[in-house]
Amino acid sequence: MKVRTRTAPSPTGYLHVGNAWSAFFNWLLTRNQRGVFVLRVEDTDRSRSTEEFETSVLEDFKWLGIDWDEGPDVGGGYGPYRQTERMHLYRQYADELRTRRAAYHCYCTPEELDAERKQAEAAGGAYRYSGRCRDLSESQRAAFLAEGRVPTVRMRIDPGPPIVVDDLVQGRVEFGPEHLDDFIIVRSNGTPLYNFANVVDDHLMAITHIVRGSEHLNNTPRQLLIYQALGWTPPQVAHLPVILGTDRKKLSKRHGDTAVRDYRRAGYLPEALRNFFALMAWYPEEDREIYSMQELIQKFRIQDVNNVSPTFDVAKLTWMNGVYMRDLIARDPDRVVTLCQDVLNDAGLLDGRVTPETRTYIARVIDVLGDRIKIGRDILAYGDFFFTDGVTYEPDAVKKYFSRKDVAATLGQLRDRIARAGPFEAGAVETIVREMATDLGLQTGEIIHPVRVALTGKTAGPGLFELMALLGRDRVVQRLDSAIDWIRSATS
Ligand code: GLU
Repeated sequence: MKVRTRTAPSPTGYLHVGNAWSAFFNWLLTRNQRGVFVLRVEDTDRSRSTEEFETSVLEDFKWLGIDWDEGPDVGGGYGPYRQTERMHLYRQYADELRTRRAAYHCYCTPEELDAERKQAEAAGGAYRYSGRCRDLSESQRAAFLAEGRVPTVRMRIDPGPPIVVDDLVQGRVEFGPEHLDDFIIVRSNGTPLYNFANVVDDHLMAITHIVRGSEHLNNTPRQLLIYQALGWTPPQVAHLPVILGTDRKKLSKRHGDTAVRDYRRAGYLPEALRNFFALMAWYPEEDREIYSMQELIQKFRIQDVNNVSPTFDVAKLTWMNGVYMRDLIARDPDRVVTLCQDVLNDAGLLDGRVTPETRTYIARVIDVLGDRIKIGRDILAYGDFFFTDGVTYEPDAVKKYFSRKDVAATLGQLRDRIARAGPFEAGAVETIVREMATDLGLQTGEIIHPVRVALTGKTAGPGLFELMALLGRDRVVQRLDSAIDWIRSATS
């Protein structure tokens, strides 16, 4: 049987790293098996779904390099691929379930159900629907309709043996009958609930494997009961373990960014993010962390995924991104320039004017910053001063290097020597600084440190002579002048 898997995002927010991870494992499984990967939009929650989120989720999947063979934008033989366009199918199968007496119309109002729930809670028991609409007579039904009640559709769940989920990652999981009552599959407004729409779609789309987050494990017995009631064979399921933050608590916004888009904006590379996802709960080889996409596809087996919660360790992801970045700078520096350009643009430092000269300049900054650039945003963290008109001095830097009483004079000396000097490149600048140190009986550090603060605002950064050469004589002289003024006015 041809392997068919799917990712089924709900467009109620930006693509979450957890959903991207499970989509990626579905995708790896499919590509490994030369199967078909489907993208289905689960947008039945009309109050929370938006077109903007759908577009952004699809864009972020594409950016990650997770492509689909069938979906709302590319079509396919099992469409439509958006749940709101499949309402007729849910209606058809809800009717079918009622015909089979596996489901029934329930006329209870939310208020009545609430009262039932409160009563159960007062009695100290767990709430289960009483089943009071299970076997209504024609006349009772007519009376409810005459009152203007609109029914929901509920599954009829009779007591039976435990439901067994044979999970490819979690192993065998049993759900006793106490977990199940007559659950609703269609709301009174006619929209299907997740468990029901999901089953109808997975079956009609001939899905063979479902890889998803473990928050859906508890839904699986309900879904299995629907498959059973319709006489369908369920797909194989694999529920991935919960992702944790570095404090070993469930990953949440508290830990930092959880949307793929945030990482994209910060200038992470999709290939690094994929490699990082791949190693969450899966260890293709011992003591090895970097894999090409081809290798991942070739090695992936869902059975090898561990049921051990992985940690979303951003520091590790950033390290990994740095590895990919080094490689990319050597192979395709233009892409790194574009990545940094986007970050600079986002930060409003390019004024939207990007000429070939701007790109050459960005490339030179990247070169000077060297290994410091692990992600695109590092160009800001370590090199923002290359793109700003003035410099903001960090308070620590001021305290450390601008407080000596002769510092303005030292900066002034250097300024004059630089203004007079010949060609302005790194070697020449270094000679000027060293000669000045000898002439004035200073340690070179006594010049280098305050000059760095004057030019960059920071105490640390790339090689001073290289960065001076790249800033160019005019900007260096100007920044030294500004620093001298600043120091004089601060101490006067
Ligand atoms: N729309 C569901 C979600 O985003 C899909 C879950 C599933 O894969 O079955 O969580």
